[in-house]
Amino acid sequence: MEFTSIQDLTAISRRYGADPDYVIAGGGNTSFKDETTLYIKGSGSSLAEAEPERFVRMDRRLLSQIWEKAYPEEPGEREKAVLADMMAARVKGEEQKRPSVETLLHDLLPFAFVVHTHPALVNGLTCSQEGEQAAAELFGGEIIWIPSTNPGYVLSRRVKEAMDTYTKRWGRPGAIIFLQNHGIFVGADTTSGVDEHYRRVMETIKTRIKRRADLSGEVSVYDCSGAVCRILSSLAGGKAVRFLRNNEIAFLVRDSRSFFPVSAPLSPDHIVYAGSDPLFVDVPAGDVGEITRRLEAAWKQQVEKTGREPKIAAVRDLGVFGIGGVDKTAGLALELFTDAVKVAAYAEAFGGVRFMPPSHVDFINTWEVEQYRSKVAGVN
Ligand SMILES: [Zn+2]
Repeated sequence: MEFTSIQDLTAISRRYGADPDYVIAGGGNTSFKDETTLYIKGSGSSLAEAEPERFVRMDRRLLSQIWEKAYPEEPGEREKAVLADMMAARVKGEEQKRPSVETLLHDLLPFAFVVHTHPALVNGLTCSQEGEQAAAELFGGEIIWIPSTNPGYVLSRRVKEAMDTYTKRWGRPGAIIFLQNHGIFVGADTTSGVDEHYRRVMETIKTRIKRRADLSGEVSVYDCSGAVCRILSSLAGGKAVRFLRNNEIAFLVRDSRSFFPVSAPLSPDHIVYAGSDPLFVDVPAGDVGEITRRLEAAWKQQVEKTGREPKIAAVRDLGVFGIGGVDKTAGLALELFTDAVKVAAYAEAFGGVRFMPPSHVDFINTWEVEQYRSKVAGVN
């Protein structure tokens, strides 16, 4: 029985993981649970390449004890303490694996299978001004709406409270959870039940959207050798730079006003891969000297203001540049920027984009630094 369920979990993970409408850059996570054990995707492992033995087995009794404990108020201290307890909840023999940061949330949903993703279509709703109202109109009591919340312990706690309230009110647990500025959790006791919920959510939102981003007319210069690429690469200390332009991007980079919908992060994934501060630079065409001067000034101002180098630089009337340590990360920056472009177009149907609250952006930026530090220290 358990063997079949883990096979099912592997299959559904691969299927959603390989579908770019649901998962990009390995985001999202999945789980299966029985009475005693939760099988959760490992942190940093890819859904599309899921293998039965890669899921982390967690002791559900130990996980449930986390809710009884008091944790420090200070976010950094709190997340560290919760993480330590989560690590201690790994079943014996699983010490080499690291469970997903959303483990607690998976555990508290009372369904055998849980699939969490960040689909652009769904985020068109969750990252919009009127998303909550639209979700209520479209789905009524079928869904739970969770306002924008920092990931980790606080998010799990909020979902737990919302789930308790929902269950009391409707006499059954909520199977579909919309997370504002983040994504969706779906739970069911069979994988076909998960598919059914997802299908209904996607079909229903599709009936309301006004338009899709026009990604045709794509020009992507992988070997980015033009003047702007060289200037950006040198500003970033020799980093890799990639260029992207398509019809939608051509419209967005016309001026800072049209760039507005993609000028700040909509979800945590955007921050992690494309950075929290996409740079928009207004440069005149042609004159390389003037272009260099303006790019340099804008770059320095941005670094001074945020303490971070941009991962996305948009240049007026030209296109968007992804900047990363290697080609792959520069490409990922563009991939996640493109996701933001899609989400922004969908969000037009729901009153336009709603950016992540700045305090939540800061939290992710600090969190990323922490994760990086622990990786360097060999803890991660
Ligand atoms: Zn997520």
